[in-house]
Amino acid sequence: MKILVSAAEIQASVESLAAKIKEREGNRPLTVIAIMTGSIVFLADLIRKLEMPLRVGVVQTSSYRGTVRGPLSINAAMMPDIAGRDVLLVDDIFDTGRTLQEVIASLADFQPRSLSSAVLLLKRGRQEVDLRPDYVGFEIPDEFVVGYGLDYNDLYRNLPFLAVLEPSDLAGQNS
Ligand code: 5GP
Ligand code: MG
Repeated sequence: MKILVSAAEIQASVESLAAKIKEREGNRPLTVIAIMTGSIVFLADLIRKLEMPLRVGVVQTSSYRGTVRGPLSINAAMMPDIAGRDVLLVDDIFDTGRTLQEVIASLADFQPRSLSSAVLLLKRGRQEVDLRPDYVGFEIPDEFVVGYGLDYNDLYRNLPFLAVLEPSDLAGQNS
């Protein structure tokens, strides 16, 4: 595989995202909602750089099997009450933008006081919605990336860096 963003570059970016979030949100309590499962590593690093009173919850969506998209489903059973709260939605990557758009629409039903969004990655030229995340770590080219929480068929989430898979990685990865 080919390394696209190193572990050190990711840490520097998370640091600067956290600084921007602190600047904008101040010291008000924040509820961070992560979209499972790709954002878990980003979530863990980001919240440890934030100092305001902070709640964490998760929602689950699924749209990919391998690299093929299916219909999107959203499960909010593991989300705390967000009515009247300032909410920061966190996802790994903004690709077409449909996931974030649909999750924002469903969270809006719970009537948060404010709702902003942070993604580690944005894939250049792929967006199919008008929405843009409030905080973006890196813009990357249109390639399928893994690592730092992102998977291919549930593998590679534990890599500390972001990488692009090569054909040799795809062959014989059935274990
Ligand atoms: P969107 O709805 O913006 O098209 O897709 C967002 C979701 O698709 C992300 O939360 C992520 O789970 C998945 N996704 C999009 N691009 C990639 C990619 O390059 N690698 C991986 N592992 N997942 C991706
Ligand atoms: Mg996802």
